[in-house]
Amino acid sequence: MPNSISRRAFLASFAGVALPRALRAAGSIFDVDVAIVGAGAAGLSAARESRLLGRSFILIEARDRIGGRVFTETALGAPYDAGAFYIHWAERNPWREEARRLGVEAIDEASLPRGASRFFENGKRSERGRDRRAFWTGVSDMFETETGPVPDVSFVERVRGDADMERGVSGLARMSLGEEPERVSALDYARLWSGDDLVLPDGYGALVRKFGADIPVRLSTPARVVSWGGSGVRVETDAGAFTAAAAIVTVSAGVLAGGAIRFDPPLPAETRAGIAGLGMGALTKVGLSFGGQRFDLPPNSNLWDSQGPRAGFNFECFPFDRNVVIAYLGGDHAREVVGLGERDAIELLLGRFAGMVGSSARKAFAGGRMHGWSADPHALGCYSHALPGEAGARAKLGRPVAEKLFFAGEATAAGDDGSFGAAMTAGGACLAGRAAARAAAGRRATP
Ligand SMILES: Cc1cc2nc3c(=O)[nH]c(=O)nc-3n(C[C@H](O)[C@H](O)[C@H](O)COP(=O)(O)OP(=O)(O)OC[C@H]3O[C@@H](n4cnc5c(N)ncnc54)[C@H](O)[C@@H]3O)c2cc1C
Repeated sequence: MPNSISRRAFLASFAGVALPRALRAAGSIFDVDVAIVGAGAAGLSAARESRLLGRSFILIEARDRIGGRVFTETALGAPYDAGAFYIHWAERNPWREEARRLGVEAIDEASLPRGASRFFENGKRSERGRDRRAFWTGVSDMFETETGPVPDVSFVERVRGDADMERGVSGLARMSLGEEPERVSALDYARLWSGDDLVLPDGYGALVRKFGADIPVRLSTPARVVSWGGSGVRVETDAGAFTAAAAIVTVSAGVLAGGAIRFDPPLPAETRAGIAGLGMGALTKVGLSFGGQRFDLPPNSNLWDSQGPRAGFNFECFPFDRNVVIAYLGGDHAREVVGLGERDAIELLLGRFAGMVGSSARKAFAGGRMHGWSADPHALGCYSHALPGEAGARAKLGRPVAEKLFFAGEATAAGDDGSFGAAMTAGGACLAGRAAARAAAGRRATP
């Protein structure tokens, strides 16, 4: 075990909130009932549910903050969400209820005043972009209204032969899923729930941060090894190791595939097949600040620019009447831009924006921030999708291992019978985290 402090000191550093009951309990076999890896929406929800169920837990997080892929950026002054933004399918999304409970404002997206919508090609006004956007909406509507069986083929295969759909499918895949259309399973996408979208003026990240404020988390503590061969589970970190009757691992499918956590013994073939059947998209947001300059654009305006068939840029301007512009990029184009590094990526996007609104944008530019989730080692992508032919992957990953190792997160928030369609979302992560906590609650540190 890589050990810099004693195990007792490591455990004690949790400030006595969840652990000591197990440590003190006579006859306890493990340090805690549940080890939870990752403090994003799923891990925090698993922790809260465990507490409600009276179970002791340790929650460890690799980053120096909670929230994972739900994060409200404030570095540019005006807050904006660098990760999740919408409370999707709000009618049944648990974050709607949490927002109400915590007194956080959440409003119907459809009630926001609409700004301008302008389309460009290489900085020149063009209506072709508007047509492409319309085709994209057409494909999205097709998926939502489909009633017959959907084949487990790629987006491209699914619409082959319909010229309008073929034109729309790339935009939908890249800008909604962050991935190229030939790499995404149409069946996996068709299973997703739909409904009303809510937005949070102060940020989705701010809501999740508030939700997690009273949950004890050990930050900057990545799990390195999860051993599950014995009677319980042992989690090793750089600061020490601890044992639990069960573990809930909520890191992204990308992080699991990347191998940053070693499982000992190796995971069963079914779990590995689940991980291998999932890809991670590359939706990327770059925030740009221009002080108070607005370039005659009303709040909530959208500018769309393109460069050839594969590179699209969407600039969301002044959401909630705030002084920030957020550029969205998806698919391989996003990966290329992220690969430039933050400084050059910001320079590129500033140039595209100035090409549309005029050179005054360069003069007014006050700073930028890129969140390239595909290169972020603790996410390795924006959210998961099943690869073509792999629509069963989420269910495989979601099946408990030896009744004590549970994988939970947005990647497992859908089944393969079509009844659970919450994958890819923060709402799904919460539901999956809660469900894993209930399943893990059957195992206790004390016999
Ligand atoms: C740009 C973007 C836009 C999005 N838009 C939306 C949206 O509008 N609506 C929506 O609902 N969803 C959206 N999503 C998806 C949503 O953010 C995710 O589905 C959700 O946040 C996933 O939560 P999770 O808990 O499953 O995973 P994560 O948030 O990734 O949590 C896992 C945690 O594990 C930590 N971790 C990683 N490795 C280790 C380790 N070795 N040890 C310990 N901890 C580790 C990570 O740091 C992270 O905090 C968006 C995501 C992105 C990136």
